[in-house]
Amino acid sequence: MEIISLPHPTLRYKSKPVKRINAELRAIVQEMFELMYEANGIGLAANQVDLPLRLFVVNTTAKKGDGEELVFINPVLTRGKGRETAEEGCLSLAGIYGPVARYKSIHVDAYGIDGKPFSADLSGMMARVVQHETDHLDGVMFTDRMNQYELAEIEAELEEFEIEFRSKRADGSIPDDVAVFARLADFESQFC
Ligand code: ZN
Repeated sequence: MEIISLPHPTLRYKSKPVKRINAELRAIVQEMFELMYEANGIGLAANQVDLPLRLFVVNTTAKKGDGEELVFINPVLTRGKGRETAEEGCLSLAGIYGPVARYKSIHVDAYGIDGKPFSADLSGMMARVVQHETDHLDGVMFTDRMNQYELAEIEAELEEFEIEFRSKRADGSIPDDVAVFARLADFESQFC
C-alpha cells in the first residue's frame, strides 16, 4: 500500500459504501494510519491509497500514540453552517497548499471500525479535515475548490505531478486505466 498522487485515476473515483467490516478491512485501516503518520498527515482517505472504499482515517495530532485515532466509514455530512477560508494541503499533492472555503461547522453520521454508528457536530480543524476527506471519497481534490487565480499560483507544481505521473505510467509502475479499474472492481466485490 502506498499513497498515490494526482492525476492517478483512483483519486477521481467515487468510492462505494463499505458493507463488510472484517479483519482484512481492519488491517487496511491500520496500514492507512501508518502511512498517514509517515507522511505527517492528519487525514487519509481510502482513494489516496488506491482503494475504492468509502472510508477515511483522521488523527489531528499527526503523531502515532498521540491524540485520538478516528475512523469514518460511509460518512454523511449535513447541517453545514458558516463559511471560512483557510490554507489546505493534501498527501496526494505533497508540498502544494492553497486557500479553500469550507463550512465552519458540520454534522457527520458515520460508522466506526467496530461497525457501530456514531454522529458528531464538528467545528474548527475537525470540521475542515472531515470535509476535505469526504471530498476525496467523491473524487474531489481541494484544488477543485480553488479559483483560476489561486490555481495559477500553483500551476508549475501541479504540472510536476503530471510529469511524474506520465513517467510512472511509462515505466509501468502505475498500470493503465483498465488495470486500475479492474483492481478497484475486485476490492468492491470484497467489501462493498
Ligand atoms: Zn487530501
